Amino acid sequence: MIDEKLTNAFADVVRRNQSENEFLQAVREVLSSIGPVLAKHPELAEHKTIERICEPERQIIFRVPWADDQGEIQINRGFRVQFNSALGPTKGGLRFHPSVNLGIVKFLGFEQTFKNALTGMPIGGGKGGADFDPKGRSDDEIMRFCQSFMTELYRHIGEYTDVPAGDIGVGAREIGYLFGQYKRITNRYESGVLTGKGTNWGGALVRTEATGYGSAFFAESMLEARNDSLDGKTCVVSGSGNVAIFAIEKIHQLGGTVVACSDSAGYVTDPKGIDLDVLKELKLRQRGRISAYAEEVTSARFVSDGSIWDVPCQVALPCATQNELTGHDARTLLDNGVMAVVEGANMPSTPEAIELFTVSGTPFAPGKAANAGGVATSALEMQQNASRDSWSFSHTEQRLSEIMTRIHDTCFEAAAAYGSPGNYVLGANVTGFLRVSQAMVALGLI
Ligand code: NAP
Repeated sequence: MIDEKLTNAFADVVRRNQSENEFLQAVREVLSSIGPVLAKHPELAEHKTIERICEPERQIIFRVPWADDQGEIQINRGFRVQFNSALGPTKGGLRFHPSVNLGIVKFLGFEQTFKNALTGMPIGGGKGGADFDPKGRSDDEIMRFCQSFMTELYRHIGEYTDVPAGDIGVGAREIGYLFGQYKRITNRYESGVLTGKGTNWGGALVRTEATGYGSAFFAESMLEARNDSLDGKTCVVSGSGNVAIFAIEKIHQLGGTVVACSDSAGYVTDPKGIDLDVLKELKLRQRGRISAYAEEVTSARFVSDGSIWDVPCQVALPCATQNELTGHDARTLLDNGVMAVVEGANMPSTPEAIELFTVSGTPFAPGKAANAGGVATSALEMQQNASRDSWSFSHTEQRLSEIMTRIHDTCFEAAAAYGSPGNYVLGANVTGFLRVSQAMVALGLI
């Protein structure tokens, strides 16, 4: 429920951003948490920080023309939303997916602002992407698209302005092509302008694994706060992309067993535990479909209809995409005795699902806290680029683990301080909002 004092502000956001449903959903979730903050800090309302925080600083939309392998001209639409730079240069990934539109990019940029604040690092929030579908495209087509995209984007970014990274459809290959074009146009080897780079040309070790590992570390902290651990737990992880694969890897290292994962065509169950060698070969090298996993592994079964959340588990990690875990799925998970839900993806649970977890007292970690390990490690990459240094895997993983523990503890303590112990949604929103809005007040009306 949105506090009475905030209803006018929300009505204004709705009026200005009609039909941007994901963005409105994300704003509603944050505004529903911050009533108690304004009661304690009335100066934040006087400075209109809520109204200002809901309006991006800058929104860029551009044409991306490119030629496919047949010589046919293709046109896509590119976006970059620099949402809030009160805490540092805007930072957030690029998504290449046919569903990308301004509302999706704004929702992601808004969430990113609070997530980045939660890391405690000097980074603001932004996001970008294009409605380009990389599926089935050749390497050359991907390169031409990335070059055309960067030919416009380069003038809007910079290590002190805005630092993009990867997201859905944008991995190390795409970051390579984007960085190459940036370097060519600007004649500057400005490593800190993009993160998620290859580890032999300025990228940080652990960045590839960071979001998935970080979500597993967060799950471990949630269970530890209840004198429990992932050891021996049955887990389900949706998706089979970057976040999902490395969440599965870390859960297995911490003693849990992941018995199901998915892609957009269906899910596989494997009661013996997902075989990571097979999954990595299939998804990271062959770029194949998850159904092929069941053809290779005899203990596995592929299911093309129904929901991955029908698979009984003690810990659930939605790591695929927004609104993939519905109220119906939440009821099934609760009926099957789920003990904790940890969002590896951005906003994968619908508001109804979150409400069900909250009312039932099931520990639920929102993505802006649980998947912040990726951007935190990107900030570590920026630190290494600035000092021309590169850290070892174990040192960087140790830093990531400490950051995730700190984010967990901060959210946990804020939830208790604001009268809702164990409510990580409230804890994350309150902490993120306070950090960003207090910096905005300090910087004056800009
Ligand atoms: P990715 O590597 O492109 O993987 C996305 C995965 O989700 C793919 O397996 C995809 O399957 C699957 N998927 C997409 N739509 C689906 C649907 N409707 N049902 C089931 N599966 C679906 O992307 P990613 O980097 O892992 O990102 C996943 C999520 O984490 C996104 O919400 C992203 O914003 C968030 N996130 C990512 C990072 C990061 O560092 N990468 C950091 C923070 C948050 P198909 O291949 O069939 O499409």
